[in-house]
Amino acid sequence: MSERPRLTVLSGPSGVGKSTVVSFMRQKHPEVWLSVSATTRKPRPGEKHGVQYYFVDEDEFAKMVANGELLEWAVFAGNHYGTPRQAVLDKLERGEPVLLEIDLQGARQVRESMPEAQSVFLAPPSWDELVRRLTGRGTEPQQVIDERLRTAKVELAAESEFDTTLVNHSVEGVAAELLALLNVV
Ligand code: ADP
Ligand code: 5GP
Repeated sequence: MSERPRLTVLSGPSGVGKSTVVSFMRQKHPEVWLSVSATTRKPRPGEKHGVQYYFVDEDEFAKMVANGELLEWAVFAGNHYGTPRQAVLDKLERGEPVLLEIDLQGARQVRESMPEAQSVFLAPPSWDELVRRLTGRGTEPQQVIDERLRTAKVELAAESEFDTTLVNHSVEGVAAELLALLNVV
Protein backbone atom coordinates (compact mmCIF):
# COMPACT_ATOMS: atom_id res chain seq x y z
CA MET A 1 0.00 0.00 0.00
CA SER A 2 1.24 3.46 -0.82
CA GLU A 3 2.06 5.85 1.99
CA ARG A 4 -0.81 8.12 3.02
CA PRO A 5 -0.37 11.50 1.32
CA ARG A 6 -0.35 14.16 4.01
CA LEU A 7 -1.61 17.21 2.15
CA THR A 8 -3.78 17.29 -0.98
CA VAL A 9 -4.49 20.43 -2.97
CA LEU A 10 -7.59 20.45 -5.17
CA SER A 11 -7.78 23.18 -7.80
CA GLY A 12 -9.68 23.85 -10.99
CA PRO A 13 -11.59 26.62 -12.71
CA SER A 14 -14.50 28.31 -11.01
CA GLY A 15 -17.73 26.41 -11.73
CA VAL A 16 -16.07 23.08 -12.53
CA GLY A 17 -17.69 21.50 -9.45
CA LYS A 18 -14.99 21.50 -6.73
CA SER A 19 -17.35 22.41 -3.86
CA THR A 20 -20.04 20.02 -5.10
CA VAL A 21 -17.63 17.08 -5.31
CA VAL A 22 -16.02 17.82 -1.94
CA SER A 23 -19.32 18.25 -0.16
CA PHE A 24 -20.71 15.03 -1.73
CA MET A 25 -17.59 13.18 -0.63
CA ARG A 26 -17.74 14.57 2.91
CA GLN A 27 -21.38 13.58 3.34
CA LYS A 28 -20.24 9.99 3.03
CA HIS A 29 -16.85 10.48 4.63
CA PRO A 30 -17.11 13.23 7.23
CA GLU A 31 -13.69 12.20 8.52
CA VAL A 32 -12.08 13.90 5.50
CA TRP A 33 -11.01 17.24 6.87
CA LEU A 34 -11.25 20.27 4.58
CA SER A 35 -9.48 23.48 5.49
CA VAL A 36 -11.88 26.43 5.86
CA SER A 37 -10.44 29.47 4.07
CA ALA A 38 -10.79 33.12 4.90
CA THR A 39 -12.27 35.33 2.19
CA THR A 40 -13.37 38.90 1.63
CA ARG A 41 -16.05 37.65 -0.80
CA LYS A 42 -19.64 38.16 0.37
CA PRO A 43 -21.48 34.98 1.41
CA ARG A 44 -23.74 33.35 -1.19
CA PRO A 45 -27.24 32.43 -0.05
CA GLY A 46 -26.95 29.54 2.40
CA GLU A 47 -23.24 30.01 3.08
CA LYS A 48 -22.35 30.28 6.77
CA HIS A 49 -19.41 31.91 8.54
CA GLY A 50 -16.99 29.20 9.68
CA VAL A 51 -18.53 26.51 7.45
CA GLN A 52 -17.83 27.30 3.77
CA TYR A 53 -15.52 30.22 4.65
CA TYR A 54 -14.54 32.65 7.36
CA PHE A 55 -16.06 35.79 5.86
CA VAL A 56 -13.84 38.73 6.80
CA ASP A 57 -13.43 42.33 5.67
CA GLU A 58 -10.35 43.73 3.89
CA ASP A 59 -8.82 45.01 7.16
CA GLU A 60 -9.17 41.68 8.91
CA PHE A 61 -7.69 39.88 5.91
CA ALA A 62 -4.75 42.31 5.76
CA LYS A 63 -4.08 41.67 9.48
CA MET A 64 -4.07 37.91 8.91
CA VAL A 65 -1.49 38.39 6.12
CA ALA A 66 0.62 40.78 8.21
CA ASN A 67 0.59 38.38 11.20
CA GLY A 68 1.73 35.48 9.02
CA GLU A 69 -1.47 33.57 9.79
CA LEU A 70 -2.00 32.37 6.22
CA LEU A 71 -0.24 29.41 4.63
CA GLU A 72 -0.99 30.91 1.21
CA TRP A 73 -3.28 33.58 -0.13
CA ALA A 74 -4.39 35.07 -3.45
CA VAL A 75 -6.64 37.60 -5.09
CA PHE A 76 -9.30 35.86 -7.18
CA ALA A 77 -11.88 37.78 -9.22
CA GLY A 78 -11.40 40.86 -7.04
CA ASN A 79 -11.60 39.16 -3.63
CA HIS A 80 -8.94 37.89 -1.23
CA TYR A 81 -8.82 34.21 -0.26
CA GLY A 82 -6.37 32.49 2.10
CA THR A 83 -5.72 29.29 4.05
CA PRO A 84 -5.35 29.68 7.82
CA ARG A 85 -1.98 28.11 8.62
CA GLN A 86 -2.37 26.82 12.18
CA ALA A 87 -5.31 24.46 11.67
CA VAL A 88 -3.52 22.82 8.74
CA LEU A 89 -0.27 22.40 10.69
CA ASP A 90 -2.16 20.95 13.70
CA LYS A 91 -3.81 18.31 11.50
CA LEU A 92 -0.57 17.41 9.74
CA GLU A 93 1.22 17.13 13.08
CA ARG A 94 -1.37 14.57 14.14
CA GLY A 95 -0.75 12.64 10.91
CA GLU A 96 -4.26 13.30 9.61
CA PRO A 97 -4.92 13.96 5.91
CA VAL A 98 -5.58 17.54 4.92
CA LEU A 99 -7.50 18.76 1.88
CA LEU A 100 -7.22 22.30 0.51
CA GLU A 101 -9.59 23.58 -2.17
CA ILE A 102 -7.78 26.61 -3.55
CA ASP A 103 -7.04 28.44 -6.78
CA LEU A 104 -4.04 28.07 -9.09
CA GLN A 105 -2.00 30.84 -7.43
CA GLY A 106 -2.49 29.22 -4.03
CA ALA A 107 -1.65 25.78 -5.40
CA ARG A 108 1.64 27.18 -6.73
CA GLN A 109 2.49 28.70 -3.34
CA VAL A 110 1.81 25.40 -1.56
CA ARG A 111 3.93 23.53 -4.12
CA GLU A 112 6.83 25.87 -3.24
CA SER A 113 6.46 25.68 0.52
CA MET A 114 5.34 22.03 0.83
CA PRO A 115 6.73 20.08 -2.14
CA GLU A 116 5.54 16.80 -0.57
CA ALA A 117 1.90 17.83 -1.14
CA GLN A 118 -0.06 16.09 -3.91
CA SER A 119 -1.90 18.35 -6.32
CA VAL A 120 -5.12 17.45 -8.11
CA PHE A 121 -6.67 19.40 -10.97
CA LEU A 122 -10.42 19.12 -11.51
CA ALA A 123 -11.18 19.69 -15.20
CA PRO A 124 -14.54 20.21 -16.93
CA PRO A 125 -15.69 17.74 -19.63
CA SER A 126 -15.57 20.69 -22.08
CA TRP A 127 -15.35 24.47 -22.20
CA ASP A 128 -19.06 24.77 -23.05
CA GLU A 129 -19.99 22.63 -20.06
CA LEU A 130 -17.89 24.85 -17.78
CA VAL A 131 -19.72 27.93 -19.06
CA ARG A 132 -23.05 26.14 -18.52
CA ARG A 133 -22.17 25.16 -14.96
CA LEU A 134 -20.83 28.54 -13.93
CA THR A 135 -23.78 30.37 -15.48
CA GLY A 136 -26.31 27.78 -14.29
CA ARG A 137 -25.16 28.11 -10.68
CA GLY A 138 -26.73 31.55 -10.78
CA THR A 139 -24.66 32.95 -7.92
CA GLU A 140 -22.77 35.70 -9.75
CA PRO A 141 -23.73 38.57 -12.03
CA GLN A 142 -22.69 38.29 -15.70
CA GLN A 143 -19.69 40.61 -15.23
CA VAL A 144 -18.28 38.36 -12.49
CA ILE A 145 -19.01 35.24 -14.56
CA ASP A 146 -17.05 36.79 -17.45
CA GLU A 147 -14.14 37.59 -15.15
CA ARG A 148 -14.16 34.04 -13.73
CA LEU A 149 -14.24 32.60 -17.26
CA ARG A 150 -11.24 34.73 -18.27
CA THR A 151 -9.38 33.37 -15.24
CA ALA A 152 -10.56 29.84 -16.10
CA LYS A 153 -8.67 30.01 -19.43
CA VAL A 154 -5.43 30.72 -17.53
CA GLU A 155 -6.16 27.95 -15.02
CA LEU A 156 -6.99 25.36 -17.69
CA ALA A 157 -3.66 26.10 -19.38
CA ALA A 158 -1.86 25.18 -16.13
CA GLU A 159 -3.34 21.69 -15.84
CA SER A 160 -0.03 19.96 -16.60
CA GLU A 161 1.53 21.49 -13.46
CA PHE A 162 -0.62 19.19 -11.34
CA ASP A 163 0.22 15.63 -10.30
CA THR A 164 -3.21 14.29 -11.30
CA THR A 165 -6.15 15.44 -13.40
CA LEU A 166 -9.72 14.30 -12.71
CA VAL A 167 -12.44 15.16 -15.23
CA ASN A 168 -15.75 16.04 -13.57
CA HIS A 169 -18.14 13.98 -15.70
CA SER A 170 -20.07 12.81 -12.65
CA VAL A 171 -19.96 14.04 -9.06
CA GLU A 172 -20.11 10.52 -7.69
CA GLY A 173 -17.33 9.26 -9.97
CA VAL A 174 -14.94 12.10 -9.16
CA ALA A 175 -15.70 11.87 -5.44
CA ALA A 176 -14.70 8.18 -5.53
CA GLU A 177 -11.49 9.00 -7.44
CA LEU A 178 -10.63 11.74 -4.97
CA LEU A 179 -11.24 9.45 -2.00
CA ALA A 180 -8.85 6.93 -3.51
CA LEU A 181 -6.20 9.66 -3.94
CA LEU A 182 -6.71 10.65 -0.30
CA ASN A 183 -6.24 6.98 0.65
CA VAL A 184 -9.51 7.11 2.58
CA VAL A 185 -11.02 4.06 0.88
P1 ADP B 1 -16.77 25.27 -7.99
O1 ADP B 1 -16.76 24.97 -6.51
O2 ADP B 1 -15.68 24.53 -8.72
O3 ADP B 1 -16.76 26.73 -8.30
P2 ADP B 1 -19.52 24.27 -7.88
O4 ADP B 1 -19.31 23.06 -7.02
O5 ADP B 1 -20.16 25.46 -7.27
O6 ADP B 1 -18.13 24.69 -8.60
O7 ADP B 1 -20.36 23.77 -9.16
C1 ADP B 1 -20.80 24.68 -10.16
C2 ADP B 1 -22.13 24.20 -10.71
O8 ADP B 1 -21.94 22.99 -11.46
C3 ADP B 1 -23.16 23.90 -9.63
O9 ADP B 1 -24.42 24.38 -10.06
C4 ADP B 1 -23.14 22.38 -9.53
O10 ADP B 1 -24.39 21.86 -9.13
C5 ADP B 1 -22.81 21.98 -10.98
N1 ADP B 1 -22.08 20.70 -11.08
C6 ADP B 1 -21.02 20.29 -10.35
N2 ADP B 1 -20.59 19.07 -10.76
C7 ADP B 1 -21.39 18.70 -11.79
C8 ADP B 1 -21.47 17.53 -12.64
N3 ADP B 1 -20.62 16.51 -12.52
N4 ADP B 1 -22.42 17.50 -13.58
C9 ADP B 1 -23.29 18.53 -13.73
N5 ADP B 1 -23.30 19.66 -12.96
C10 ADP B 1 -22.35 19.75 -11.99
P1 5GP C 1 -15.53 30.92 -4.76
O1 5GP C 1 -15.67 32.40 -4.64
O2 5GP C 1 -16.18 30.37 -6.00
O3 5GP C 1 -15.94 30.18 -3.50
O4 5GP C 1 -13.97 30.60 -4.93
C1 5GP C 1 -13.23 31.21 -5.95
C2 5GP C 1 -11.87 30.56 -6.08
O5 5GP C 1 -11.11 30.77 -4.88
C3 5GP C 1 -11.93 29.04 -6.26
O6 5GP C 1 -10.99 28.69 -7.28
C4 5GP C 1 -11.48 28.50 -4.93
O7 5GP C 1 -10.83 27.24 -5.04
C5 5GP C 1 -10.49 29.57 -4.52
N1 5GP C 1 -10.19 29.57 -3.10
C6 5GP C 1 -11.00 29.28 -2.06
N2 5GP C 1 -10.34 29.36 -0.90
C7 5GP C 1 -9.06 29.69 -1.20
C8 5GP C 1 -7.87 29.91 -0.44
O8 5GP C 1 -7.83 29.81 0.78
N3 5GP C 1 -6.76 30.26 -1.12
C9 5GP C 1 -6.74 30.39 -2.48
N4 5GP C 1 -5.58 30.70 -3.05
N5 5GP C 1 -7.82 30.20 -3.23
C10 5GP C 1 -8.96 29.85 -2.61
